[in-house]
Amino acid sequence: MNSGNQDYRTKRQAMVRQQLAPRGIVDKRVLEAMARVPRELFVPEHLRAEAYEDHPLPIGHGQTISQPYIVALMAEMLCLTGRERVLDVGTGSGYAAAVLACIALEVYSIERIPDLAAQARENLDKTGYTQVHIRCGDGSLGWPEAAPFDGVSVAAGAPSVPSALIQELSVGGRLVIPVGSEGGDQQLLCVTRVSDSEFEQSGVGEVRFVPLLGEGGWA
Ligand code: SAM
Repeated sequence: MNSGNQDYRTKRQAMVRQQLAPRGIVDKRVLEAMARVPRELFVPEHLRAEAYEDHPLPIGHGQTISQPYIVALMAEMLCLTGRERVLDVGTGSGYAAAVLACIALEVYSIERIPDLAAQARENLDKTGYTQVHIRCGDGSLGWPEAAPFDGVSVAAGAPSVPSALIQELSVGGRLVIPVGSEGGDQQLLCVTRVSDSEFEQSGVGEVRFVPLLGEGGWA
């Protein structure tokens, strides 16, 4: 995998030390993945110098690459060991998909904006994450042919938990998703499928994501 030049490696290590570990990210595999994936190659060229700053960045089409801490938090909430199949809804730049590819067996990622899906494919290929499956479409409906998934991560805020995504979880699988008002305050939820018909839900705090647009999201 291409993990970039020395300057960016230094910035990446500082990001892990200063933004992730102090905020309570403890999963070693997540920390290693965040220290490995060259985030500067997933942001627009003119923003590369800001790639490791503690905030989201614009990636075009009114969309953003999430703050590094949020990417790490969502990855950690999935409790991955390396044997899982994961669905990533809202590919954006492809950065979170690359992080997930470091800590899961297989990653499927869906983006609704064709230009972003194409750019993400390019970003993932040039950084060596060629194994990530990308599709352009409405991720609020899941990816039925590839289901079930042991983990589902949704990087856009929904009005409620989309039923298609719940149904695509394997027993023991986890869905991490921001739910709340459109473009406003949302709760980051973790839904665990404990049996065929039972689900447990917990919230970890307030977040702010762009809206999940589609049949299982906002109109
Ligand atoms: N994870 C991304 C990354 O690493 O760059 C950032 C995701 S960005 C915060 C949210 C993305 O979700 C946007 O690219 C947006 O177009 C996409 N999105 C919104 N609704 C969607 C839907 N129904 N299906 C797929 N993607 C969707």
